[in-house]
Amino acid sequence: MRLYLASANPNKAAELGAMARALGAGSPVDVRPASEVGGMPAVVEDAGTFTGNARKKAEALLPRVPPGDWALADDSGICVDALGGGPGVESAYYAGASADAGANLRKLVREMSPVPDGSRGAHYVCVLYLVGPGGEARAFEGRCHGTLAREPRGSGGFGYDPVFVPEGDSRTIAEMAPAEKDALSHRGRAFASCVGWLAARG
Ligand code: IMP
Repeated sequence: MRLYLASANPNKAAELGAMARALGAGSPVDVRPASEVGGMPAVVEDAGTFTGNARKKAEALLPRVPPGDWALADDSGICVDALGGGPGVESAYYAGASADAGANLRKLVREMSPVPDGSRGAHYVCVLYLVGPGGEARAFEGRCHGTLAREPRGSGGFGYDPVFVPEGDSRTIAEMAPAEKDALSHRGRAFASCVGWLAARG
């Protein structure tokens, strides 16, 4: 089945596209970019939850999706224990409404500098929201737990990956190969649930 990605974020699209291709010839899903159906409409991400924002994005693209196909949206972010779970749903705007990923990362490094080792826990959350034929809808959540490094390391991934060290590893996600990230990431876990559900549904 065809899934059109309700996202204007090229990093998310690249990761989800690679994960879909890695499933190989027997894959139940064919992930397509929103650009094939006229692009992703602008959406105000003000629902206050990952699921609510993901739902808004999926429903915004759905009218452009060919009958019988699905819209798939990703809303995600980083939740930091020492920041009371923030920036969470505000991760993309942590350093301000027009801040870029570099400014967001620098702000996180700065805010976390007084926080001692042992109190630097964090987790990523990804909600994938699927909506399709007849309005059928379903959300899939994936999490990835870890800690925050004091300084950025590595050049892979995107966003906060240069400071995020997943549980069981000593590297940041930005120091990993893309397939290694996909195998343990919040997005990889949510996508695996989504594919499993679609495969079982038939
Ligand atoms: P949104 O889902 O468009 O609201 O934005 C998600 C934001 O969360 C991104 O802009 C990043 O700041 C952060 N984020 C989500 N997933 C990842 C990831 O896999 N690596 C690093 N940062 C991420």
